[in-house]
Amino acid sequence: MCAVRAQGRIAALDQGTTSSRAVVFDSETVKIECIKNHQLTQYYPHPAWVEQDPQEIWRTQLDSLTEACESAGLPLQSIACLGITNQRETVVVWDKKTGKPVYNAIVWQCRRSAGICRQLMENGYEDVIREKTGLIIDAYFSGTKIKWILDNVPGARERAKKGELLAGTVDSWLVWKLTGGAVHITDYTNASRTLLFNINTLDWDDELLAMLDIPRCMLPSLVQSSGFIAETSQEVLGARIPICGIAGDQQAALFGQACFEPGSVKNTYGTGCFILMNTGDKPVVSKNRLLSTIAWVIGGKAEYALEGSVFNAGSAIQWLRDELRLIGSAPESDALAETVPDTGGVYVVPAFTGLGAPYWDMYARGTITGLTRGTRKEHFVRAVLEAIAYQSRDVMEAMEADSGIRIKELKVDGGASVSRFLMQFQADMMNVAVKKPEITETTAMGAAFLAGMGAGIWSGQDEIAAKWKLSREYSPSMDASIREGLYESWKRAVERSLGWERV
Ligand code: ADP
Repeated sequence: MCAVRAQGRIAALDQGTTSSRAVVFDSETVKIECIKNHQLTQYYPHPAWVEQDPQEIWRTQLDSLTEACESAGLPLQSIACLGITNQRETVVVWDKKTGKPVYNAIVWQCRRSAGICRQLMENGYEDVIREKTGLIIDAYFSGTKIKWILDNVPGARERAKKGELLAGTVDSWLVWKLTGGAVHITDYTNASRTLLFNINTLDWDDELLAMLDIPRCMLPSLVQSSGFIAETSQEVLGARIPICGIAGDQQAALFGQACFEPGSVKNTYGTGCFILMNTGDKPVVSKNRLLSTIAWVIGGKAEYALEGSVFNAGSAIQWLRDELRLIGSAPESDALAETVPDTGGVYVVPAFTGLGAPYWDMYARGTITGLTRGTRKEHFVRAVLEAIAYQSRDVMEAMEADSGIRIKELKVDGGASVSRFLMQFQADMMNVAVKKPEITETTAMGAAFLAGMGAGIWSGQDEIAAKWKLSREYSPSMDASIREGLYESWKRAVERSLGWERV
């Protein structure tokens, strides 16, 4: 273990689906000093297959870090500690000796293991998987992707059984590279997205490993989300920097938003919406097919979260811009929506790819209801923005029902959280305050918070909560009868979208 300075700079590596970013924070002011990023190439070898090159993931991440330090005029040695946050569920399998991946990284969006999932369902594994992992059977999660590699790369399973291959999510891969191949670990939040990890026992689960025929010896050791984890290699980085925090991107954002109390919720409004609620020290078994997941493990104590997502949110605004050409840019949607007092009874259900929680209908399709001769573009655009808030309420209501906790406020971030109209409508629709932080890089902020706490720069969650700074608050101001009337009509619109596509 190395000595860690009590203050200084913290670098967060934010390895996302489309880019690798490095963000350098000043631990005293908690301000961003520099951000650098590199785009990542996506490979689509077949319809619905998505891959990335693990070496490119590593190189772009390393370049972002060195460039961020350079442009801030900081030698790497002056970084007090590193935090890592990453796209979740994406997996890499590599050779333990040579460090060479045996296949491309299979990305979370990739559907190639849908057949394996169907088989698991037919074999009646749904309940055991929900109880042990908090997840549902879906190609999204890592386990069936690892199985696919072992089934399809010649000789891979035999080599894995002999201990020659290692597997890991992107955090594992980055730490292995950063330490020059010395350390093979993963943090609990990433482990909880694999289908192989038991969220009750906090360990890899032999029954699940047997179910997917994955040898335990290829899996990483489990580490806490905050605390000394490993040290970067002098040969690789030219500096020995302690790695003191790791979390998957959504959990990092929950931490970065200081959602530490049970019932606290964050919503990230990006292409889709990712909503997480802290549920405290016990996993909640969802009755609405939300996911139960590890929020973080700190000081030997696990905290849990409920997670739900909206498939199409910001993407519906892009659709207005790129396909319908009703707006020239995303911000224009805001201005147009504010020119009308309501949608004139129009509802747009952007179920382009089916509907997720709490409907879970993959045959639902986009639907427009309530058109009249007086419907104008402004009504239509407003209805699309409102739909993002309605869908978020659908998920948050399911969270309240599952957890038995009433949501008191909502912390927000992501690209579409800049829409004042959307944020005000969300506050009105939920009847709670919507709070936007000064630093909207909440994912990187979360990784930096976890690392800084792990390195002893900050004493704990109370100190971190005090560092979360409000930039803008939206207070609910809608009359209850109007609110519930609108929401009731939204539900009726959703009904019309369900089961549209013929099986
Ligand atoms: P992701 O991480 O999923 O790529 P971002 O957090 O970068 O997403 O957010 C991008 C989304 O935000 C886009 O889908 C875009 O439509 C939406 N967006 C960006 N600016 C605005 C705006 N001013 N009003 C509404 N939506 C916006």
